[in-house]
Amino acid sequence: MIAENYKKVMTEISRAVERVGRSAADVKLIAVTKTVGIETVRQAAGLGITDFGENRVQEAEEKVRTLPDLNWHFIGHLQSNKARDVISHYGLIHSLDRLSLAKALQRCAEKTDQIVDTLIQVNVSGEESKFGLEPEKLAGFIEHLAYFDRIKVKGLMTMAPFVDEPEEVRPCFKKLRELRDAHAKAGLQLAELSMGMTNDYVIAVEEGATMVRIGSALFN
Ligand SMILES: *Cc1c(COP(=O)(O)O)cnc(C)c1O
Repeated sequence: MIAENYKKVMTEISRAVERVGRSAADVKLIAVTKTVGIETVRQAAGLGITDFGENRVQEAEEKVRTLPDLNWHFIGHLQSNKARDVISHYGLIHSLDRLSLAKALQRCAEKTDQIVDTLIQVNVSGEESKFGLEPEKLAGFIEHLAYFDRIKVKGLMTMAPFVDEPEEVRPCFKKLRELRDAHAKAGLQLAELSMGMTNDYVIAVEEGATMVRIGSALFN
């Protein structure tokens, strides 16, 4: 069943990139495995999926320890006291959203002599329930991050509001892309756009997503 779901998702992604003249090679599927166990992750990896996402350090611990060779993405809200666990198991943190977390990551990365790849999470929709930096604060935040030599910002991430009609979230994805492009003009390399989940990944891909984070469409 996962095989079938995977095929369907990949087909949707190729159709979406075709519609807007992008290449499927520029969109990475991140399988979000927070609701499934190790065997299912193995099965998905066996199908050729290389990248996996988890949003809670503790719940994911056994999975990331058991399958260290997979590319793990940390996609959830990250508490500073978990920074150390996360940098030792995850290749990319999608949820950098405050200086206190940057400080914690920098400190841990110095100890372990690592470079930490991150995306800055932006709260484009302005929903109060969502984590992430306000778009107006992005430029200042990026300036501050220049002082953290162990932290490398690879791009931006957002979570769209949950709506019945996926088309309603298009402006949200478009805005994240425009933010990325505005900062690229200022000479920053923010290539990655992590946006789109089961309900809205097709629209996210049309709007330029380079990473989609998909759980239910693969595993339910
Ligand atoms: C759970 C989760 C996803 C995947 O959600 P689905 O709707 O199941 O595809 C993506 N991103 C984040 C941050 C999540 O927590």
